[in-house]
Amino acid sequence: MGNMVDLCCPFCHGELSKKAPEDERLNCYRCSLSFSTSDGLVNLVDPSRLDEAARWQQAIYEGRESSQYKAEYLDLEVVRRSADIQLEIAVNYGLPMPNWKGLKSREILDKLKPQAGELVLDVGCGAGHLLNAMHVIYGTKGVGIDFSTAAIRAAMGNNPFGNQYLVADALNLPFRDGVFDLVISYDVIEHVPDHRRFAREMTRVLKPQGGLLIYTPSRRDRWSWHWWQRKLSGGRYNLGLDNLAGHDPEKFLSPEELAEHLEKAGLWGVKTLAFHTLYTLIFDETFPEFIFRLLPRPRLLKGFFRMLELADAAPGDRGYGNGFFAYGRRAAVEPVREPTGDGAYVARFRPPDQGGEGD
Ligand SMILES: [Zn+2]
Repeated sequence: MGNMVDLCCPFCHGELSKKAPEDERLNCYRCSLSFSTSDGLVNLVDPSRLDEAARWQQAIYEGRESSQYKAEYLDLEVVRRSADIQLEIAVNYGLPMPNWKGLKSREILDKLKPQAGELVLDVGCGAGHLLNAMHVIYGTKGVGIDFSTAAIRAAMGNNPFGNQYLVADALNLPFRDGVFDLVISYDVIEHVPDHRRFAREMTRVLKPQGGLLIYTPSRRDRWSWHWWQRKLSGGRYNLGLDNLAGHDPEKFLSPEELAEHLEKAGLWGVKTLAFHTLYTLIFDETFPEFIFRLLPRPRLLKGFFRMLELADAAPGDRGYGNGFFAYGRRAAVEPVREPTGDGAYVARFRPPDQGGEGD
């Protein structure tokens, strides 16, 4: 496995090294924390610093907490099967996921223009499917972090393109400032206790002008398939977001809220795209993948997707959807650091082309 990026202490950003080559622990010489690397699994989460909610989340995603929700990566056979399908769809259709969400992801990733050889960080990478698909589509190199050791084991066990994987906490990324060309994160920010810090950490590790993409369920899910399910059943039937373990609807963001967090963290040109309203969400929950067998010709598939999009247009255009993307770029000039008091700092930027004006 290639080490594409140097790690640093997730808490003080000091240098990490081993006392002796055969040592299993990485030590920070600045703050004297140490981290496990047994079985080739680099674990940069310090359990003593997690609160109760974070420990509960981690237990679910390790498969230690009994729950309706079972992460795919807990079963390596399932991981292998879905990895095959995902790669096949990426190769034949250029989609990072075999569903409507994949189609929308491709549209937005294209706007961020990933280039061959560029370094992509996936925060909450699961089994690494997205990084693998991006390598196939754009030729990018991947670094994946996840809070779950089970996810990282699955990703390392199915790593055809030599991505680098680590167990790490999204709120304390073990990377120096400005190392990635693109940072992406799907279905993670709604699980973390501090949305602002999450946005700051993702922005901090981006190179100037690097792109950022977040997908998250929306607080504004009116008219969506899940919203109708709740309404029609008087709240009893909820296939929606609450059924996934670790989801707290109180923590869901609206597109406007997330855009504001990202702008304050130092992104410019932030845009959001709400999607997954009625038909597109039913489609993704009922037969993702299947359609690719039924309509093996890309033009038929495009026509079918266009129909779904037209049917869902009105709520999506008005910012409603079961989920949304937020994306933007880090400013092109060096940030001015301002401490936030919780050990992190907020990066203040001036956007390009307005070099004379402060913010
Ligand atoms: Zn340290």
